[in-house]
Amino acid sequence: MAAPEPTTGAGTRRPDADADVIVVGAGPAGSTAATYLARAGLDVLLLEKTTFPRPKVCGDGFTPRGMKQLIDLGIDCSEQNGWLHNRGLRVLGGGVSLELEWPTLASFPDYGAVRPRQDFDELLARNAVKAGARLHEDTSVTEAMIEERTGRVMGVAGYVGKGKDRSPVSFRAPLTLACDGVSARVALSLGIAKRDDRPMGVAVRRYYTSPRTNDDFLESHLELWDRSDPASPKLLPGYGWIFGMGDGTSNVGLGILSTSRAFGSTDYRALLKSWLDGTPQEWGYRDENAVGPVGGAALPMGFNRIPHYRPGLLLVGDAGGTVNPFNGEGIAYAMESAQIAARCAVQGLARSGASQEAALAGYPAQLSQALGGYYRIGNVFSRLIGNPTIMRLATRHGLPRKTLMAFLLKLLANLYDPKEGDVSDRVIAAMTRLAPSV
Ligand SMILES: Cc1cc2nc3c(=O)[nH]c(=O)nc-3n(C[C@H](O)[C@H](O)[C@H](O)COP(=O)(O)OP(=O)(O)OC[C@H]3O[C@@H](n4cnc5c(N)ncnc54)[C@H](O)[C@@H]3O)c2cc1C
Repeated sequence: MAAPEPTTGAGTRRPDADADVIVVGAGPAGSTAATYLARAGLDVLLLEKTTFPRPKVCGDGFTPRGMKQLIDLGIDCSEQNGWLHNRGLRVLGGGVSLELEWPTLASFPDYGAVRPRQDFDELLARNAVKAGARLHEDTSVTEAMIEERTGRVMGVAGYVGKGKDRSPVSFRAPLTLACDGVSARVALSLGIAKRDDRPMGVAVRRYYTSPRTNDDFLESHLELWDRSDPASPKLLPGYGWIFGMGDGTSNVGLGILSTSRAFGSTDYRALLKSWLDGTPQEWGYRDENAVGPVGGAALPMGFNRIPHYRPGLLLVGDAGGTVNPFNGEGIAYAMESAQIAARCAVQGLARSGASQEAALAGYPAQLSQALGGYYRIGNVFSRLIGNPTIMRLATRHGLPRKTLMAFLLKLLANLYDPKEGDVSDRVIAAMTRLAPSV
């Protein structure tokens, strides 16, 4: 078979292709990319293995970095439209509780939000459809299809439906975006494995009805104590969050880094229970107030799956390991990588030959330019705080110092103005510039 011809927009693709671009997975990465691509006039096939609405294990928290992505996409982020805004981050540890307001910056809004993923992911997928993408739900991709002569990805194969109603399908397009999350089925089918020298997290969460449901701060617990036996409190590995959902519930969870010695040998559900059993009874985080089961998943961090481009295929979002290694935030980065991928795809698909390749190969380069230096420092940071002694020392000595913590909030949440910011912004900008990209 001949190499795929370039396309120049909707309606001009080659006759044996099913779309200009195939996007696998309609999570934040896939729906964002599909929206930008469809708005640019491309025919986009968005393949999703589940059907909406569906639950998704997550903390449901958005920092201002996530809000910026939503605003860029034209989403109405007002409270009237279902977004519960917050003013900052409350950090607890070492006996101290500190409320840090989100910074005022040129680059990002000064509010974050919470929104259940069940609702958010559907909203984003419908937004992609509104832009013109063709969403196929209940469609599981099992592998990338390769053009034998060139080795180029020329589409995907999988199946539609479940059980005995399941039937095989395949789709062809000059470009595929793998946005299939941490399972990374498409990348794995090509032998693109995760890198073990990059950090990984595991996180679990559960909803509880709680009087703490209305909170205008996201809450982060840097030390998790099991106080179920008040006579001998025990420090647990990892750190936790409590996000008031504003609907009578809180989303409560904890995460552990692969750099921690406890990683892999921990019963995460039991750990969540011992932490919550030690929190004040009146907060309500007890089994009898639980709404739904404990859910858990891995957090692929610091670009732990590369290369992000191989001919005919881009890895976007969790599929490319884009979770921030400093704080475990993933939605903003899934959307940011999707925005960059879509920009490169639109350019690439309007060209041919070497010029097309240059535009598509620009994706990993632009991703690295945007986040590579920052993630390099984040990967080192995650190695340091994976050591409980360093984590405890940092909490004890750092938390009481508000100026230091305000700086750390900017660093950990990646919220600074690279050019027009204050001294702390310029320090972070210089650090990320000087660090070699991952
Ligand atoms: C417990 C926990 C708490 C978290 N809390 C937060 C938080 O508060 N804030 C935050 O910003 N991030 C958080 N994260 C991280 C965040 O959930 C992810 O980084 C984010 O969802 C990544 O988006 P994505 O689109 O790349 O992947 P996903 O959201 O995983 O989307 C992938 C999509 O692809 C579909 N799919 C998968 N395989 C296939 C296939 N083979 N064929 C077709 N479709 C497929 C899936 O059904 C899904 O819809 C948390 C993660 C965990 C585990």
